[in-house]
This record gives sequence, structure tokens and C-alpha cells, in this order.
Amino acid sequence: MKNLYSPCKLCQRNCGVDRLAGEVGFCGETAVLRIGAAVIHKGEEPSLVGTGGSGTIFISGCNLGCSFCQNYQISQGVEQGEERKETSLGKAVSAEDFADICIELCNMGAENINIVTGSHAIPALVEGIKAAKKKGMTLPFLWNSSGYETCDSLELLRDYIDIYLPDLKTLDSDIAEKFFNAPDYPASATTAILKMIDMTAKKSRENAREKVIIRHLILPGYLKATRAVLLWFADNAKDRALLSLMTQYTPIPNRKRAMPERYLSEDEYETVLKWLEELKIDEGFCQELVTGNDWLPDFKRHNPFSSELSVPVARLFTSQT
Ligand code: SF4
Repeated sequence: MKNLYSPCKLCQRNCGVDRLAGEVGFCGETAVLRIGAAVIHKGEEPSLVGTGGSGTIFISGCNLGCSFCQNYQISQGVEQGEERKETSLGKAVSAEDFADICIELCNMGAENINIVTGSHAIPALVEGIKAAKKKGMTLPFLWNSSGYETCDSLELLRDYIDIYLPDLKTLDSDIAEKFFNAPDYPASATTAILKMIDMTAKKSRENAREKVIIRHLILPGYLKATRAVLLWFADNAKDRALLSLMTQYTPIPNRKRAMPERYLSEDEYETVLKWLEELKIDEGFCQELVTGNDWLPDFKRHNPFSSELSVPVARLFTSQT
């Protein structure tokens, strides 16, 4: 499976670089799997947090690269000047290391293993999941992604992923171009999400609907785009997946990128709640209105989040490389 990195066409960016030889494409990562953090996370959807928390593993690098990404330190690196980027934060891990992290999260009481932003690292992650299962890991694996995967890449996950949490960020190509340089995102993400729904339905006939949770982050000032997402969900996925509406958009100080520069307003929030009612989307999740920067992690810290939100894996992340 590692051959898929050379030349790399794992995602729609189609870079064609030789990641096995150390080259990097848009996602900024070679074939070496790197992890930005591993924590017990209590800020995910209630059904995923349960009582023990979600065992969340943040993968370094990203194939979408949203300008407003809250995890930019590990997904894109820290900006230096206009264009230059430092390498994103993270620690190189082998499949065995990945398996050990999963076991440690399990021992800390995790309800599941939640892999965040791994679309550009699917071959390595499949090896890691296989190694974890070999060591006796029985927790469900979650795929928590931007939804910017090809169907061929998703096919590689079919036997290994139990629950999908794809974003549906926008259906507007102009917004997709402006904030993540991917005008094809709307077509790609809806195709990927329908594929996830299909794979999950075939895998587990019981509670299949609860195993695809489509996340949408409401962007302040872009409510029309949110309405389009809600309409798409109501027409295409409502009976087969759950919606999770997120209000935690946080402007990032000192980032020189195009991004909404304010939090979501109360009026905007109320409008979206009315649309949920109008479209009879009455199951799923909706965050309360968030207006502080509690959701802005700092991956330079041992615990990137507040202690209420997460507990880090102890031994692996005392320093970043
Ligand atoms: S996974 Fe990375 S290198 Fe490969 S095609 Fe996508 S962005 Fe390019």
C-alpha cells in the first residue's frame, strides 16, 4: 500500500510527488506518518465522548489546508512571512508506535479511536490500525476528516473504519476556492460523503445512520452557504446520516490569511436554528453558541486544549519534532 505515495495521487490535489523519496506535495508530508497530539477529548459529539472521552489522534499535515483552520500549527505549520511555512508540528511514528498510542488511549478509558485529518496518510494509518488490532484493540475507529478524499482512497478504509465524521464545509465553489484553494471541494466532498454512507450501510445494518455524522461549521457572514448545506443534507442524507452543526468558528489572531474576522452572531445562530426547524432536521447535534477562544488549541503545549476539554497521552508528546 505504501506504493500509493509514489507518485502520490491519494487525493484530488493529484500532486504526483514521490513521498517515499521524501518529497512533499500540497499536504506537506512525506510518507512518514507524524502525529501532532493524542488526547482523550471531551469536546466531540456526546455520543462519541460517552463517559470515557474520545481517544483522539491528530495527524500532522492536511490535504485541504483551510485558511481558518484552528489546528493550523499541526495541519499547515506556522507562517513566517507571506508565503513561507515552517514544517507543521508533529512527531514521526511507526505503525507499532501508532498501535501503542491506541492501546494507551484505550487504557485511559477512551470510548473509541478518533483519527483526525488523516486523508493524506491513509496507507500508513491502515498499517497502524492493523497493528493496533493485532495487539488486541477492539475499540471502534473513527474517521474524522474534511471530506476531501477520493472514492479509491476511501475504499482502502472500508474494512478498518467503523464511524465516519466528514465535514461538509460548503457547496459553494467560490468559497471553497477562497478559503481552501479547492473549487472542486463541493463535488468531491458530497461524493465522498455518499460513499461513506454507502460503505457504512453495507458494513453494519444496525444503527448505520448514527455511524456517519456530517459536520458543518457555520462561517460568520456566510449563512447562505450554510443554508445550501442544510438543503443538501435534507435532500440527500437525512435518513441515512446525522448532522452536527458547529458554531465554534474562531478568528485566529495574526494569521495573514483570508478568513471571517468575527465570531458567529446570536442573530445568525437563531436563523440557522429556524432553518433546522423548517427543514425538519430534528435529530443530530448542534453546538450552543460559542463566542470565546476556548476552542483554539495550542499544539506547542503538552495539553493543546484546556484541561476540561482534554487529557493528553503522557509519554509521547513531551516534545515536538
Ligand atoms: S495526499 Fe498530499 S501529496 Fe498526495 S495528492 Fe494529496 S495533497 Fe498531494
